[in-house]
Amino acid sequence: MTERWQPQPADRTAENREREFWQQPVTALKGISQSRAKLLAQLDVYNFRDLLRLFPRDYHDWSQLTPLSELREGEEATVLAVCTTEPNLRYRGARSTLRVTFRDATGGIVCLWFNSPFFADKLIKGQLYLLRGRVRSYGQQNQMVNPHFQPQDRMLLGGESVSVPPEGVNYREIDPGNLAATFVRPIYPLVAGLQQGNVRNWVEAVLDRALERGYLREVLPAPLRRRQRLSTGEYALIRIHRPETQETYSIARHRLAFEELFFTVLGLLRLGRRARDGFAAFPVRLDTSDEELWQDTVSRLPFALTGAQSRCCDEIAADLAAERPMNRLLQGDVGSGKTVIAALAVLRAKLAGGQSVLMAPTTVLAGQHYSTLVNMSGLDSLRVALLTGSTRAAERRNILAALAAGEIDLLVGTHAVLTEDVVFANLVLAITDEQHRFGVRQRIGLLSGENSSPHVLVMSATPIPRSLALVLYGDLDVSVVDELPAGRQPIATYTARSADWPRVLELVRKRVNLGQQVYVICPLKYADETDEDEKIARDPEADSPVELGNSAAESVFEWLRKEALPDLRSGLLHGGMKDREKNAALAAFRAGETQILVATTVVEVGVDNPNATLMLVLGAERFGLSQLHQLRGRIGRGSEASVCVLMSDTDKELARERFKVLCRSNDGFYLAEQDLRLRGPGDLFGVRQHGIPEFRLANLYTDQDLLRAATTEARQIMSADPDLALPENSQLLRGLDAAFGERLTHIGL
Ligand code: ADP
Ligand code: MG
Repeated sequence: MTERWQPQPADRTAENREREFWQQPVTALKGISQSRAKLLAQLDVYNFRDLLRLFPRDYHDWSQLTPLSELREGEEATVLAVCTTEPNLRYRGARSTLRVTFRDATGGIVCLWFNSPFFADKLIKGQLYLLRGRVRSYGQQNQMVNPHFQPQDRMLLGGESVSVPPEGVNYREIDPGNLAATFVRPIYPLVAGLQQGNVRNWVEAVLDRALERGYLREVLPAPLRRRQRLSTGEYALIRIHRPETQETYSIARHRLAFEELFFTVLGLLRLGRRARDGFAAFPVRLDTSDEELWQDTVSRLPFALTGAQSRCCDEIAADLAAERPMNRLLQGDVGSGKTVIAALAVLRAKLAGGQSVLMAPTTVLAGQHYSTLVNMSGLDSLRVALLTGSTRAAERRNILAALAAGEIDLLVGTHAVLTEDVVFANLVLAITDEQHRFGVRQRIGLLSGENSSPHVLVMSATPIPRSLALVLYGDLDVSVVDELPAGRQPIATYTARSADWPRVLELVRKRVNLGQQVYVICPLKYADETDEDEKIARDPEADSPVELGNSAAESVFEWLRKEALPDLRSGLLHGGMKDREKNAALAAFRAGETQILVATTVVEVGVDNPNATLMLVLGAERFGLSQLHQLRGRIGRGSEASVCVLMSDTDKELARERFKVLCRSNDGFYLAEQDLRLRGPGDLFGVRQHGIPEFRLANLYTDQDLLRAATTEARQIMSADPDLALPENSQLLRGLDAAFGERLTHIGL
């Protein structure tokens, strides 16, 4: 492809204008209200740049038309047909069914739309439509349920494009054999409340404006592009949103995936340098009597440390004693006992006269760490405080004063602790739990003392395959807790369908009768939270107690409490509740006051109740493999054998494969590998993935070669020009700038 000469901006004003363009909030586009902006924020889309980097999660190829007479049951097909009936809209309570018949020269089909009454106005008798959906046969008839549709004002007849009247097309003329409509439609990731067509228009609008102004400037140096055989950025961005053929898509994807991996690695390398070079750390060295005190604490813990825990403690102690900041990743499967390792590191810091901070991704988790640490026998000498977004102003003032006076040894909190007014007397150790949710900027802010930096310990439950860890975490040291506490039993995992509810409920009852507790995990908070594009086609006639795929915590909670298990005590926990309510629900569950906790994934990290031995995951197909493993890790924490039931009515192959892998193995490393293997392109966005950095396009399993190439390039550039000061590298700074807030925040380094 030809290279376009790209003028460098003559002055800073031009550069600034361009930056301002990309940073414009999405609300600067016509049609994006505050409330829509909030929905986009759930997709990590805040400004123009993000919108252009919201890549299609799939493409629908509308170019292969199937004559209606050749439709086959179960197949996904695109048809071109004329609407031959007035829309027939029926209500049953709040639910509705819309029924329309379409015909072409070869046959007919009935299309049904459930709970979408507004489509009635868009389906006009006599109008020509492209329809796409899965075919099912119903008696003698072919049907499509909730198909995508688009009115057509042109069609190809004998190779000629002719316009068709908006109404009154004769279906006998529609012979798909003579037609060749060619276009590929991008399908964007959505959240409930956003419409596919709107998102597509917004992306198009930004793309057009950027092209007009020449703002799709190259960020990769030409020699690098030549070496790696990459297209220009402009070409790639256009073709990822408007692919013409499979080939142009592949070229575009290759370039953008490389770019994504490359800037991630480059950013990590730069960060690693910044965190280390020239920074001094407070060396945590204990004298003999303090060392004895520390050992004494270990012996007073409610359990003996596992071999792996002891080894990790030693590795951390050695790092802490150095005058250079520790930069260590503590990696261990769920339930491997990372918290106590962190606590013992905090104790070392305290004995040496220093303070620590422990940051958790959510208020709930921070609260739980706090209560674990305050209540663990042996750790009573630690003075611990909790600071979160919901701490009252007066209390916050007190905590800050005590912190500055050195009267607190450990501050536990959410990222709210990282604001400027939080001043430590002597911060020695900073620990982050489930690091990938943290912003890099925040962490750097924390690190930047005058010339010194605290030791940093990053805890992660995601067993990143070693080959990847090496690349992704670069210079980070890694400790692995590769041994579970003694007496742990593997979690037996099974699958079930709606039809199995009676047996599943029996299982719940049995566990509760034994004095044990149960988690019921739901994919959604509220009943109306279905996501437009993934909406599962459901017959309003087929009433099952709980629709697995769309299980909302609130409805399931009501159903269990009022109908299914009214004699048992159920609690509810989801992200839409106030922090106070969440903590109360969790406390009640931990205290055994509630026997069943109906929850969304808010429990996925860190919630700890060893008495819970059964977990039901409803709509399990909506979760990723790592996430299911993570969730499952909430049980199997005591000495009782635990059971996890993955409930799903899906027949999707990929989902069923995930379940199979989970039923077969409890090994986090194996599962992480499988997770990467099984992650399809649609999966990446449909399900919020866990731990492993989320990339928009790159797939860490299938793109390992690309990752290696990107790493080699990044390392070469950094060793030749560590400050990226050479003129040929100046565009890399722009690329880093753009990538910085996006991808690195997920890695949190
Ligand atoms: P994670 O690594 O997932 O953060 P936790 O630190 O929450 O794991 O520990 C899980 C559970 O195991 C907690 O209840 C903790 O008290 C317990 N635990 C930790 N270490 C041991 C051990 N060596 N022996 C027995 N139980 C342990
Ligand atoms: Mg934990």
